[in-house]
Amino acid sequence: MPSLLETEAVELIRELIRIDSVNTGESATIGDGETRAARFVQERLEEVGIATTLVEPVPGRGSVVARLKGSDPDAGALLVHAHLDVVPVVESDWTKPPFGAEIHDGFLYGRGAVDMKDYAGTVLAVVRHFVREGIAPRRDIVLAFLADEEAGGVWGAGWLVENRPDLFEGVTEALSEVGGFSVPLDVSGERRAYLAATGEKGVAWATVTAHGHAAHGSRPTDDNAVVRIARAVERLGGHRFPVVRTPALDGFLSAFGDARGLAFAEESFDDDLAGLGFVSTLIGASTRNTATPTVIGGGGKTNIIPAKAFARVDIRILPGEDEALKQGLREAVGPDVEVKWGRWWPATVAPVDAPLIEVLQRAITVDDPDGTVVPYLLPASTDNKHFARLGIHGYGFVPLRVPADFDVFAQFHAADERVPVDALHFSARVTERILREA
Ligand SMILES: [Zn+2]
Repeated sequence: MPSLLETEAVELIRELIRIDSVNTGESATIGDGETRAARFVQERLEEVGIATTLVEPVPGRGSVVARLKGSDPDAGALLVHAHLDVVPVVESDWTKPPFGAEIHDGFLYGRGAVDMKDYAGTVLAVVRHFVREGIAPRRDIVLAFLADEEAGGVWGAGWLVENRPDLFEGVTEALSEVGGFSVPLDVSGERRAYLAATGEKGVAWATVTAHGHAAHGSRPTDDNAVVRIARAVERLGGHRFPVVRTPALDGFLSAFGDARGLAFAEESFDDDLAGLGFVSTLIGASTRNTATPTVIGGGGKTNIIPAKAFARVDIRILPGEDEALKQGLREAVGPDVEVKWGRWWPATVAPVDAPLIEVLQRAITVDDPDGTVVPYLLPASTDNKHFARLGIHGYGFVPLRVPADFDVFAQFHAADERVPVDALHFSARVTERILREA
C-alpha cells in the first residue's frame, strides 16, 4: 500500500498536469496557465500554514516562493525549484489526452509528467508531509515554483534573480532538473546509476559572415560570398572539438568504466560510449564543445551574386572552454570569413564531491542498495543558470527508479510523455529523505 506521502504526491502531480500551462514562448499566445498553477501550489502550501510570495511580473506568468525553517541555523539554505510551465503539444501525436493525467498500465501520461510537474508535485507533497509529521529539515529550504523555464526563464527565475534576490538570501545550493533518473549501470541492467547533473553547458551564438564582390549572376566570379559561406559551413559542420575530461565526465566514465570493464581510452572513446545504449546520447553531447550551423542566408535575388552571405551558429560550451571554443571555431571556418560573437552564457559548474552528493547517495541507498549516484554534465540549460548568478551551486536530481529499457530523458518534450507511477512513489520517498537531511 502506498503511503499518504506517495499517494498525495501522485495526486498533486496529476492535478498540476491538468492545469494547461503551455509556454509557447510568444506573449500573444500564452494564457494564464502558469499563474493558475502557481495559485494551486500557493493554496496547497498555505493550507498547511506555509507562508508564500506569489509574483506575477506580467499577467498570467506567475511564480511562487516559500521558505521552510531548518533546524541547523549554521547551514546554508537549500533552494528546491521546479518550473510550472510545459512545452506545447501536438495533440494528434498523442494517444492519451496530454492534459488528462490518465494512468494506463502503471504509467501516468501527460505533458509535464517528467518535465517537470512530477518534481513540483513531489516537493509539494514532501513539505506538506513535513508539516503533518512535525519534521524540521536540517537546512532552511527555499521552495520556488517557476514560470517560463521553457522559454529561457525571463519571467520566472531570471526575473526573480534580478528583482527579488532577497527571497534567496543565504541559499548556497539548489536542487532541480535534469537528472536523478536511473539508467542501467552494468550490462545486465540489474545495477542502476542515478545521474546527478553537477553542471550545465553554456549556450552562445555566433554569426559567420563571408564577403565577396557583388556581380550579375550571368557572369560568375571566384569572389562569391555565397560559395565562401557554404565552404565555411561545410568545414564547421565536419569539425569535431576534442573530448574534454571535466570532473563530471571523469566521475561518469570511472563509474561506467568499472561496471562495464571499459577503458574509455582516446582510440576507443566513441565506441565505448556508444556501447552504453541510450545514455550515450545524453552523455555524448557533454563530452565536447559543439558549434552547429543552424541558419544560412545572404543575397535575395537569384540573378545577383551578393557581396555578403552569412550563417548562424548554435554553440554549446563546456566549463572553462570559452576561449578554446572561440579559437577552434575560427580555425574551423577558415581565415576568409568574419566571426561575430552573439549572446554568451557560460557553463555553470558545481563541485562533484559536495556533501550534498553524499546525501543523494544515502537517500537512494535506502531504496536501492546497489544504486550509485553518478555525476554528469547536462548538455542543455535549466533555471539553475539564473540562480548561478547569485552564487548558488545548482544540481539536477529528480529521483526516478525506472525499468532498464525506459529512457526518461527521451520523454522530455515528447508526445505521450509518461512516467511509471511506482517511480513517482520512489521519488516521493527519496526526495523526502533528501530534503530532510540535506
Ligand atoms: Zn524542464
